[in-house]
Amino acid sequence: MNRLSDKVAVITGGAVGLGRATALRMAEEGAAVAVLDVLDAEGLELIEMLRERSLPVAYWHCDVSSEREVQSVMREVVEHFGRIDILVNNAGIAGVNKPTHEITEAEWDRVQAVNVKGVFFCTKHAIPHLKQAGGGSIINLSSIYGLVGAPDVPPYHASKGAVRLMSKTDAMIYAPDRIRVNSIHPGFIWTPMVEAHLSSQGDLEEGRKATAALHPLGRIGEPDDIAWGAVYLASDEAAFVTGSELIIDGGYTAH
Ligand code: NAD
Repeated sequence: MNRLSDKVAVITGGAVGLGRATALRMAEEGAAVAVLDVLDAEGLELIEMLRERSLPVAYWHCDVSSEREVQSVMREVVEHFGRIDILVNNAGIAGVNKPTHEITEAEWDRVQAVNVKGVFFCTKHAIPHLKQAGGGSIINLSSIYGLVGAPDVPPYHASKGAVRLMSKTDAMIYAPDRIRVNSIHPGFIWTPMVEAHLSSQGDLEEGRKATAALHPLGRIGEPDDIAWGAVYLASDEAAFVTGSELIIDGGYTAH
């Protein structure tokens, strides 16, 4: 399959979970993929696995909450692969799960630094390269928690709501440059983030069953459920899609 042939994709938080699945599917669809993460061992293992399949991939250590690191890694990706056409702002953290009145300023700020400022820094420093490439696609991972409320993780909800509107604003600002910007809103997908979240709340199997039941399709999602959405938004199949919200949630927000 060659839905992304000749394109170069940068995927933040690409070492595990949704980012990993997206890196894999985008590479299989013909993109050269730059995986950025802070989990170097997992990132390098993924790269090795993909290189064994002769897929053009490379790994960079990059903390998205550091503007200096983001700026220099974006430059290095262009030096290595020649251009950037696709940016997947996927890196994110769940942060503390406490009621609002118990959260410290530092706990609040850390979530915004990764989930919101990280999207800002990566977008800011990718845009000149996307313009240079004549256009492109930015895909921001928001969440169902950027659309509807739930009585948990307040800083996370705030961050994902911000990412939803940052996507729409940037869609309008950069439309004249032929850069499309869309958000993806996953329901619960089985990744290290969700496993850690459910483990912190008690029995994992019970939590898994209860969480699955929140989705009308009756299950927790798989990383590929999101990766295929990202492939679509990155591809020319989505040439007329910008400022949109791709909800992939097994029906969670339908009621
Ligand atoms: P995950 O925790 O399993 O993986 C996140 C990845 O981001 C990890 O590789 C981690 O090392 C990386 N990361 C964290 N902080 C970083 C930083 N400062 N710089 C660079 N990389 C960093 O999470 P996931 O479930 O795969 O989620 C991916 C994205 O999708 C996140 O933005 C998350 O909020 C969002 N999301 C996930 C779900 C879900 O159910 N899994 C649902 C809705 C939205």
